[in-house]
Amino acid sequence: MLDTLIKNATVIPMTGEGEVYYGCSVGIKDGAIEFIGDGHPEASEVIDARGDIVMPGLVNAHAHTAMCVMRGYADDYALQSWLYDKVFPVEARLTERAIDAGARLGMAEMIRTGTTSFSDMYFCQPAVAKAVDKIGMRANLCNAVLALGDDYVFEKDRAVIETDELLKEYGVKGRIRADVSIHAEYTSRPEIWKRVHEWAKEYGAVTHIHLSETKREQEEAKARHGLSPAAAFDKYGIFDTKTLAAHGVWLEKSDMELLAKRGVSIAHCPVSNLKLGSGTADVAAMVRAGVNVCLGTDGACSNNSLDLFEELKLAALLAKGRSLDPTALPAYEALKMATVNGAKGQGREGETGVIEEGYRADLIMIDASSPHMRPIYDPISSVVYSARGSDVRMTMVDGKVLYLDGEYKTVDVKEAIREVEEAAVPIVLNE
Ligand SMILES: [Zn+2]
Repeated sequence: MLDTLIKNATVIPMTGEGEVYYGCSVGIKDGAIEFIGDGHPEASEVIDARGDIVMPGLVNAHAHTAMCVMRGYADDYALQSWLYDKVFPVEARLTERAIDAGARLGMAEMIRTGTTSFSDMYFCQPAVAKAVDKIGMRANLCNAVLALGDDYVFEKDRAVIETDELLKEYGVKGRIRADVSIHAEYTSRPEIWKRVHEWAKEYGAVTHIHLSETKREQEEAKARHGLSPAAAFDKYGIFDTKTLAAHGVWLEKSDMELLAKRGVSIAHCPVSNLKLGSGTADVAAMVRAGVNVCLGTDGACSNNSLDLFEELKLAALLAKGRSLDPTALPAYEALKMATVNGAKGQGREGETGVIEEGYRADLIMIDASSPHMRPIYDPISSVVYSARGSDVRMTMVDGKVLYLDGEYKTVDVKEAIREVEEAAVPIVLNE
């Protein structure tokens, strides 16, 4: 007998362009998808999805989830002053309690808006991992190595100690897994990159980085290395193992070809790139070059939301506007970025991002009855261009319902907000 049966659904399986199943049932057993079809096999629990669209949960491929504590704190700054004058000083003060509360608030927002899996780069990740475990999301966690100054000692870096702890505790296979991370070309140097890369080789971990986010980064890397940031990382072998790179706003054609050849995924973060005035990534060109492009929100201090539906529509629109071609990045391609491609970027292909027998049951149900959703000619287009994160009725990870019709099953949102306001806001304001 199945554990759960979702019946009468309009299903977007993300297994092929234009594929939609109507009046379909999805059966779940032991956290995996076991049945897709017309029938109604017996199940312990039945969810009626009549009028709803069921699709794979979204993958947020680049987040700094606990930065929710700084939501709205540093708006309208350029990246360099935003980072060095506003964000880094606060981050130096943040406590584990504040970060844990911020992470819980961010995860509540993500499950409310249909994200089931995320790749997170931040501090105190062993504590965050415990919160992820309790809340039930899927996550790749890393603490990025920054090596600023001549007195930097790799072994003493908190990020290094935490990464080592995460790799040993969680490995690189489960619902929660460790990534390794170099923050960016401009915040570290090749001898440090090589140390991080040693872990990636030893454990088979994904390396999560920031890449070509600003024009200044692109130009300064060329002055420093005689190479673009991508070419510099490649020169030192970083792309020999699976790499997930956020942004790619200033990638040149040769960089895109390099990333495609080396299997590097880009986490496109259009809202953050626009808000920080970094520019707009040429996603249509990346896709043409064969780069695996995913979607990310970046942190809530540069967004200010973790609602991936915003990124989804904006990504599709920007690709068209930038290329003056309305056929660029059609709806299905955009939705792939938020699901299938995101899973691949996380090293989770075959595990999540698709509704097919054998995949983990990471699903969302979208209420398709609101005025802004009707009528529906093509559910895939409706999800990309009409749906909002607030239309998500149900979010399920590993077969477990985390959110249903306004009710958070695994996280106390009021408590998380109170904790953010008590433990984090005074630190952000340096009171
Ligand atoms: Zn980032």
